[in-house]
Amino acid sequence: MMSSTPSAPHTPDALELGDLPVVDNHCHGLDLQQQPDDLGDWRSRFTESPHARMRTVDAADTTFYRRLLRRMASFHSLDPEAGETAVLEARQRWSTADLTAALWRDAGIDRLVVDTGYPPADRVVGTDVLAAATGGRPVLLLRLELLFQHLVAQHASLPAVLEALDASLDDLRSQGFAGLKSIVGYRTGLEVERWDTDVVESSFAEARHEVAGTGVVRLGYKPLLDTLLHGALAQAAVQELPVQFHVGYGDPDVDLRTASPLALRAVFEEPAYRGAAIVLLHGCWPYVREGAYLTAVYQNAYLDLSYGIPFLSVGELTAMTSAALGAAPFSKLMFSSDGARVPELHWMGAHDGRLALSRGLGLLVEDRELSTAKAYEVAERVLAGNARRLYGVPA
Ligand SMILES: [Zn+2]
Repeated sequence: MMSSTPSAPHTPDALELGDLPVVDNHCHGLDLQQQPDDLGDWRSRFTESPHARMRTVDAADTTFYRRLLRRMASFHSLDPEAGETAVLEARQRWSTADLTAALWRDAGIDRLVVDTGYPPADRVVGTDVLAAATGGRPVLLLRLELLFQHLVAQHASLPAVLEALDASLDDLRSQGFAGLKSIVGYRTGLEVERWDTDVVESSFAEARHEVAGTGVVRLGYKPLLDTLLHGALAQAAVQELPVQFHVGYGDPDVDLRTASPLALRAVFEEPAYRGAAIVLLHGCWPYVREGAYLTAVYQNAYLDLSYGIPFLSVGELTAMTSAALGAAPFSKLMFSSDGARVPELHWMGAHDGRLALSRGLGLLVEDRELSTAKAYEVAERVLAGNARRLYGVPA
């Protein structure tokens, strides 16, 4: 059924996708403390910048943030231009559990696939809150770099770390995990290489030196991190588990010059890893075409289209979606919000994902590339079906 709204020239009629539930294949937990200290603290949730003025002032001056405020105002039955203070006052009247449930039911969020590595476990609400606000318990992912750091801090030799890694990743499903997540893109880059043992040993020695000084380690040692990742990828392939990689847009720990997913070529070329689905996060924005290309040539490449973060306009989200739909097999695309800390990101991401997808698919129907029925089927798979299959999310 096509929308009856008259459309401007070159604007396709949008498909009506409001009834389709979503499985959010990439998101994070919610802060225990939902009420911000002040306006600057609230605004800082909607930027990847580490700079104080950006976080407290400029973050409020984006298309994304203006849209968020207008949507929140409507949700709280205020005038769309009510502004930050009125919106936050209305929000403050809700408990975290009630607000989350009301927002997520409004957005038709059926299930979440949650990266348990961020925010830290002691700062997020329990999974019971997430389960109560959706169709059931979230599916959990293990963040690899946190595990690596823990193991390097615990063990004095490289062989001991590698042995402990294998033990930690043994039968991940029975440990309650549906897949893995890597932020190597934030650490030493996506070009995961093979290194000679002596190079890895000296990289390990540097990491242990940091442990000796501080008691912990932030894993920025490339030969060591690459080697541990190879161990994890081999395990994921044997257990046929998906591995998510942060790609593209993020805080400036990511060198965006080298954050194209094409840097993962060696991982995709490795026959031993074919059993592991590699999920490229954030639509690889701005490298969405590169990500879509990879899904079209490698059987284990998948593209996550995330609509809450990056912080973009609806027009840019639509362009990302169209680029993906234009090149990728429909079986390889999955919706997400990348929502973190506040439930509004998961909520608006679900609405905007449907909107961008309806526009992108509407154009394919208008161009007579897809029937309306086929476009609906594709929408259902991108919004939920593909993720259910890949992560084993119950229907
Ligand atoms: Zn994320």
